[in-house]
Amino acid sequence: SVNKMSFKYEDVENIYKKIKSMKQKGKNADYIPDLQIVNPNIYAISVCNIKGEIMNFGDYRTEVGIESTSKVFTLALALNMYSIKKLISHVGDKDETREFNSIKDVLEIKNHTINSFVNAGAMATTSLLYDKTKSNDTNEKAMNKIILENMEDFAGRTLKVNEHLYLSEYKTSHHNQLLIDKLVSYRRFYGDPQTVLKSYTKQCSVMVTSKDIAVMAATLANNGTNPITHNKLVNEEKVEYIVDHMAQHGLYNESEQWWESTHFPVKSGVGGVIMIVIPGVMGIGIVSPPLNKYGNSFKGVETGKLLANIPIY
Ligand code: GLU
Repeated sequence: SVNKMSFKYEDVENIYKKIKSMKQKGKNADYIPDLQIVNPNIYAISVCNIKGEIMNFGDYRTEVGIESTSKVFTLALALNMYSIKKLISHVGDKDETREFNSIKDVLEIKNHTINSFVNAGAMATTSLLYDKTKSNDTNEKAMNKIILENMEDFAGRTLKVNEHLYLSEYKTSHHNQLLIDKLVSYRRFYGDPQTVLKSYTKQCSVMVTSKDIAVMAATLANNGTNPITHNKLVNEEKVEYIVDHMAQHGLYNESEQWWESTHFPVKSGVGGVIMIVIPGVMGIGIVSPPLNKYGNSFKGVETGKLLANIPIY
């Protein structure tokens, strides 16, 4: 049961019912074949406060691909290896001006660095984990392992890569490939392109539930300490950079509009995940696969906006 420092159960339940019955205006991501065929009716909300108390609604046991929500955790890994200064100079912390995988933004934004949450910057962030003294094969294995284990530490349980989803995305990843080629040409990419593309695509294919996302978010809300396992995963100063990045760039070019209506740091994924961090209070995971025109979960965004209007006790 959740007492202090959370929402009232009934308040979230009302929002759940309201959005569940709302007419669906989004549609599943269609540029990744395996995402297009996911059941569009999946809908779940989970809340985990910093004491580790959890509330779940709807399909909270159903796993979906984490997709871009993984970018938050790979940024955390990169920050455990390198300074904030290095992330800013090598990857960027600027606003995107176009869509989530814009090639034009890579060409036009100053220094060709955008931020760790658009596809280009996220792949550049993953490339920071590449060890140039080792072979591509060794790197691929090591990167896949550390990326998965890190997400498991945040979720507090064993997670799995959906190999079918991975191959489905990898085989159709020409656009991401092109983004990497541009970054390489500007020397804004820090590992072997194919190896990093594979690891990045794999990090996106990790399967999670709304409950996993809530616990992962609660770890950030709790200054980097998982509220269930009590493992300290990131130091405070770096958590601040990550949460700030979410506040600025979490929903691609819907970020500003979202911030104005919620003031919630957030990150989306094209599998339909919305992850919200309320620092010092709680983490929220929402899952609904159909996306709005910005590439963010349509019902997830609507749910978040309503959650911003209920009191925290
Ligand atoms: N794996 C997806 C891609 O690289 C992630 C995009 C997203 O979730 O927004 O296109």
